[in-house]
Amino acid sequence: MEKIYFNIQIDCESTQRTIHDPALGERAIRGLGEVFAQTGVRGTFVVIPPDLKVHAALYRELEAEGHEVGLHIHPAEQGYEEFLGVYGFDEQVKILQEGIDVFAEGMGRRPEVFTPGYFSANDHTYPALEALGFRHGTVSISTRDLPQCACVWGSSPLEVHYPHRHNRSLAGDVDFVDVPPTVDVASRMWGGAHPQDLRIELVDAKNHWYTIHKNVKRQVAAGEAIPVKHLKGLTHNIFDYSHPHDFRRETLFGVIAAARQICEQQGCELVPATTGEIAAEYRRRAPLPRGGMKLGLDTRGRAAWTAQKTV
Ligand SMILES: [Zn+2]
Repeated sequence: MEKIYFNIQIDCESTQRTIHDPALGERAIRGLGEVFAQTGVRGTFVVIPPDLKVHAALYRELEAEGHEVGLHIHPAEQGYEEFLGVYGFDEQVKILQEGIDVFAEGMGRRPEVFTPGYFSANDHTYPALEALGFRHGTVSISTRDLPQCACVWGSSPLEVHYPHRHNRSLAGDVDFVDVPPTVDVASRMWGGAHPQDLRIELVDAKNHWYTIHKNVKRQVAAGEAIPVKHLKGLTHNIFDYSHPHDFRRETLFGVIAAARQICEQQGCELVPATTGEIAAEYRRRAPLPRGGMKLGLDTRGRAAWTAQKTV
C-alpha cells in the first residue's frame, strides 16, 4: 500500500520579544504532546535558542517520547537583522553556529533539523547548513513571494528533495534533505504573496481538508515519480494547545482526522513520522545525485512545428 508520511512541525518561539510568554510556550508544548500521544502523530519541534534555554528539560522529554527537536532561528533574537536571507555565507554560518552552541548545551548534542524564521533564505543558506552538519529540515516553501522578508521561492519543489548548491529554488546535490510544508499553490493569501499552507492557525479544519485532499491526490497520481510522499503541517507554540476547547487544538485534531480519512479513501496508509524519519526514508530511496540535476527547456513544440514545415 502507498505510504503518505505525516508530520507536524512546531516553530517554538514563546520567548520572542514580541510574544515574551514562556509559560504559554510550555502549555502549548505540553498540549501538543498530549494531542500527539492521543493520535499517534510525531512532532518536529524546532526551537529558537532563548526558548531552548528555558524549556530544554521539556524538549528532552518530548524527544524521549519519539518526537524530534531541532533548531529554529530568528536572527533578530540574537541581535542581527530580522531575516536570515539577507546574509552571506560566513554571516549565516556565524548566526547558525551561535544557535548550535545553545542547542548543544541544552540537549547534549548538535541539532540535525533546521527551519529559518519566515522561510527566509538565499542561495548561501543550504551550503551553510551542509557545512555545519545539518541533515534535513524545512527551508523552502514553494511559491511564497515575500521579498520584504528575504523569502522568494518561485516554483521550488513541492516534494522532499536535495537542494541545489547555487540556486535555492532548484533540486540539486546539497547533502541536506528539504521537506517542504504542504501548500495549495492555487489558493493565494496575503495579496497573492503566500500559498495557503497546512498551518494549523491559518484556517479551520474544513478549509484544510481541501489542501490535504488535493495534495494526497496529486502525489498518488504521480506514482513512482515522487519516491517519498508526505503531508507536513505547521504551527507555533504561542497558542494554548493545553486548553481542551482551544480553537487551534480542535483544528489540529480535525486536520489529523482528515488526513487519515483522505489517505484511506485514496487507498494509502498515513504513516506518522518526524521530519528526520521522512528525510531518512528519502535518503534510502533517492541517493544523493553527483553534480546536481540536468535542466532543460521543453522544446517539443518547436520540434513539431519544424517537422510540420518540412512536410
Ligand atoms: Zn519562527
